[in-house]
Amino acid sequence: MPPIKIGIVGLGKIARDQHLPALEANPNFELVAVASRNASQEGIASFETLEEMLEAMPELDAVSLCTPPTVRYGQARQTLRAGKHVMLEKPPGATLSEVEDLAQLAESSPGSLFATWHSRYAPAVEPAQKWLASRQIRKVHIEWKEDVRVWHPGQRWIWEPGGMGVFDPAINALSIVTAILPRRFFLHEGTLQFPENCQAPIAANLYFSDSEDTPITADLDFLQTGPQTWDIHIETDEGNLALRKGGSQMFVNDQLEHEAPEQEYPGLYARFAELVARRESDVDVAPLRHVADAFLLGRRETVAAFYDEG
Ligand code: NAP
Repeated sequence: MPPIKIGIVGLGKIARDQHLPALEANPNFELVAVASRNASQEGIASFETLEEMLEAMPELDAVSLCTPPTVRYGQARQTLRAGKHVMLEKPPGATLSEVEDLAQLAESSPGSLFATWHSRYAPAVEPAQKWLASRQIRKVHIEWKEDVRVWHPGQRWIWEPGGMGVFDPAINALSIVTAILPRRFFLHEGTLQFPENCQAPIAANLYFSDSEDTPITADLDFLQTGPQTWDIHIETDEGNLALRKGGSQMFVNDQLEHEAPEQEYPGLYARFAELVARRESDVDVAPLRHVADAFLLGRRETVAAFYDEG
């Protein structure tokens, strides 16, 4: 099979940190173009817009959209309609409805659609899912606390409607728990803290449960300085499991049981190559649905204004 000729749209932090190195290391792909209004990539055909890239490079097989979620729907629709395969960064869109519309469009298009959840490819996620499968879950607690100024320096879009604020990272935790817990769960109540100058929350506390009344809680914070916390604690009838460091470590009763080097984006591109070869799509909106529920049901509190010098 010749390599899949791919273009990247939105050459920002995640495209540079993860997509470029993952593509460089994967012989199934050849990066042939980028489209970004304010950035270009040396040695690669660079365009300001997706339209120009699609027009100038009919040989493109696939496009990876690394733009903010609010602009992805239009870009994905245009790319699918051009007959290309599409990979979406997480969150896959600004609303459930638009992602479901894209999934439907992909069904009648020659291209595959892959709505990625990179945290599901963290090395301890699959072992955790297997460990939990034969146990009775009693309690789940998510602690997802990071510093927005480190991971999203100077990004205004994250505080605008559709930017999702603290749910931009927290949706990663939700992507893991929706993959490893045996039952669906749903929100009962929550509190979302909005800085007085922002349209998206900077912190949240959420209370979910499932059909067995298992309590599932989440503490989310976007202002954590010092060590960052991306942990999920699960109490079962046969001991306690902890996924730490965003799913890269699994502890059972405080003993490290599984740890491996982080390979999330190589895993995503391996999966994308598989989907392209099979002309299949992979779109799971479950994590985004929980975020939508939090905006529907959560109590809103106003907190001090947020400023980022970045
Ligand atoms: P970013 O640094 O702001 O990059 C996004 C790029 O998209 C921008 O550089 C911009 O490039 C382009 N863009 C196109 N339309 C835009 C618009 N209306 N507003 C702002 N930028 C626009 O953001 P990022 O951190 O890479 O995040 C992009 C996506 O990746 C998000 O969905 C995020 O959740 C996901 N992600 C981020 C991280 C992380 O650590 N930052 C980790 C995993 C996933 P031009 O101005 O050149 O067009």
